[in-house]
Amino acid sequence: MSKGKAPGQHQRKGMTLMEFFDRFPDDAAAERYLAEARWPDGPRCPHDGCDSANVQIVKNRKPQPFRCRTCRKHFSVRTNTPMHASNLGFRVWLLAMYLMVTGIKGTSSMKLHRDLGVTYRTAWHLSHRIREAWADQQSLSFFDGPVEIDETYIGGKAKNMHAKDRERRISGRGGVDKAAVVGAKDRATGKVSAEVVKAVDAPTLREFVDSHAAPATTVFTDGATAYRGRQNHHAVLHSLGEYVRGEVHTNGIESLWSMLKRGYVGTYHKMSDKHLHRYVSEFAGRHNHRPLDTADQLTLTVNSMNGKRLPYAELVANAPAGTAVERDYCEPW
Ligand SMILES: [Zn+2]
Repeated sequence: MSKGKAPGQHQRKGMTLMEFFDRFPDDAAAERYLAEARWPDGPRCPHDGCDSANVQIVKNRKPQPFRCRTCRKHFSVRTNTPMHASNLGFRVWLLAMYLMVTGIKGTSSMKLHRDLGVTYRTAWHLSHRIREAWADQQSLSFFDGPVEIDETYIGGKAKNMHAKDRERRISGRGGVDKAAVVGAKDRATGKVSAEVVKAVDAPTLREFVDSHAAPATTVFTDGATAYRGRQNHHAVLHSLGEYVRGEVHTNGIESLWSMLKRGYVGTYHKMSDKHLHRYVSEFAGRHNHRPLDTADQLTLTVNSMNGKRLPYAELVANAPAGTAVERDYCEPW
């Protein structure tokens, strides 16, 4: 292993912007690729409860390019994905995915707005729809272990916040003015899973551990007393200045926190309570795809869009007037 490189990562194949445009010279090429990535074994009907592979290609594409012979409904590669009802071209979608997949510290909506030539509002909705693809992949994880579990806190000073945000702030370790995120990392696979929690108390943490690791699985944490009593639990005592004791440490999951925080400080500057879970999904999803070639990261992202939708109305639901579209970038210079 050469110095300064993480194991395995020097072998992954990237994709330059030039290669991207060679591969997707127009919308038709992008659409073909999206269909192949979504349905590697040929198109399947995406209408609710159907999933039939008995699909006819509609030559004149009217009203849509595919027709299901089973439920007789038409569909396209957008149907029942976050691309549903979107007017954006296929290449714009793919390029946005490319930017978000390769932007390891995140990609602000302002950058997407500028790079893609769409309105800020559209760029913001677009980025959240792409995060949706990464949403459940990690929250459904159940790990063989050993598993590292740790919490972190994201957010700014309470005095700069809306009163509503402030009320929702958690109490417990780490600071009352921040939102808490709990995460797990499987040492066996390197996969992570993380979610926003309302409180960092024993019941919440135990529920999180139990949903990611079987009782017999070895669990490493820092000194949080909430985990005490669990069998096969080993803790380092950060409070006493102890960070690593042999294999007992949480350095793996902490690398996710450090990337998430770099994204918060360096790219987004704000992750509202309302949408924090989406950013957490983004960083965890990207972490889990990290060892793969860029082309495979793109394919997996498309493949994970199946059955997920995030209409604009749903994204902005319950936002106070004038605050629906949020700012996730620093002031332009
Ligand atoms: Zn059907």
